[in-house]
Amino acid sequence: MADHATSLLEAQALELDARDPLAAFRDEFLVPRNDDGSEQTYLCGNSLGLQPRATRAALLDELDDWHRLAVEAHFRGRHPWMPYHGFVRDDLAALVGALPHEVVAMNSLTVNLHLMMVSFYRPDATRNAILIERNAFPSDHHAVESQIRFHGHDPASALIEIDPDEPGGTLSDAAILGAIEQHGSRIALVMLSGVQYLTGQAFDLAAIVRAAHAKGCLVGFDLAHAAGNLALQLHDTGCDFAVWCSYKYLNSGPGAVAGCFVHERHARAALPRFAGWWGHDQATRFRMAPEFDATPGADGWQLSNPPILALAPLRVSLSIFRRAGMGALRAKSEALTAYFDALIREHAGDVLEITTPREPSRRGCQLSLRVKGPREAGRSLFDHLHARGIVVDWREPDVIRAAPTPLYNRRIDCLRFVLAVREWAATRKR
Ligand SMILES: *Cc1c(COP(=O)(O)O)cnc(C)c1O
Repeated sequence: MADHATSLLEAQALELDARDPLAAFRDEFLVPRNDDGSEQTYLCGNSLGLQPRATRAALLDELDDWHRLAVEAHFRGRHPWMPYHGFVRDDLAALVGALPHEVVAMNSLTVNLHLMMVSFYRPDATRNAILIERNAFPSDHHAVESQIRFHGHDPASALIEIDPDEPGGTLSDAAILGAIEQHGSRIALVMLSGVQYLTGQAFDLAAIVRAAHAKGCLVGFDLAHAAGNLALQLHDTGCDFAVWCSYKYLNSGPGAVAGCFVHERHARAALPRFAGWWGHDQATRFRMAPEFDATPGADGWQLSNPPILALAPLRVSLSIFRRAGMGALRAKSEALTAYFDALIREHAGDVLEITTPREPSRRGCQLSLRVKGPREAGRSLFDHLHARGIVVDWREPDVIRAAPTPLYNRRIDCLRFVLAVREWAATRKR
């Protein structure tokens, strides 16, 4: 690209970044650096979010309280450990559009998915199927298949997979709602993602719930790529449960404590569940009686006392989301991803195909990109980007995912990505 064209684009990007009302939030994060000391262009928040600056101090506080107070820190710590999981409740509820007693932070994502299926996948002879996307995340496949087998059914008939029916590998509303309409009477559970990890497609959660409930199916969502990305309204959506992880858009660190939503309508239901003492009614938990008396709401699904050192980063991270506001973040995100999308189409359209839907309502911040030409070209571009300090990720067989997240990414990050793609294309033409 000619130098003056590049300068013009850079000036434009910097100008837009300067006008971003959320720009200051970037300073709350630690951006990894290249060997030469420059900041990386990090577009991988869809996979592992960056570390908030405040996380280290929050962790050290807990280590200090453990040192100074030991067992007493359960009651006298700066953030007492006994009620600790409650400190994230309100922020978590606000983040996903839920009532406070509908959410809980616990375990990890796949564990929560299993615990939810214990309660909400109750197959019988005629209604025993689970509906998922054919290209669902492997862990979700493993979880639903193993649940089907655990109940003595055969995935060959009890696992119904929706095939992509759009050119980029995405699913039309008609394909999803059609599958529910067609198979509804034998579907026990509809288990779909909120934002598809591979294509970046966002599903119409409310429409899915309406269609599924009309057929008598329960509905759960895996929101790994939706939490902290979309402005979710889980309570109004009406799904029966949802689960998500906290290390992607929620910036809470590798393997962070995950989230779980159980709709209010199930808060006091006598559902089968795998129980543990931390799910027992708080008022009587320490009577240490053998009978289980579930805490109403999502808290009743907890098993163990929570890992404080893993919850501290979540507490920090959710306080950032509270201050920024998910509505404002989503507004910035739509504009940022639209900018990224337009830049790619205009300046890298000869090289890259965007497979993520173009409509804002059908995607979050991530764009899934396919390199035109042989698969080796995709790997070669990916390696080139990495060598330039541009961090995106690669998903087999041929997808590059790039996610400008609204908390710490800028227009200039999107532009650097596109300029590096141009540079790569120029070297290949020689
Ligand atoms: C990231 C992700 C997972 C990972 O599961 P863990 O239990 O957190 O290791 C599972 N499912 C989906 C859809 C994901 O995006």
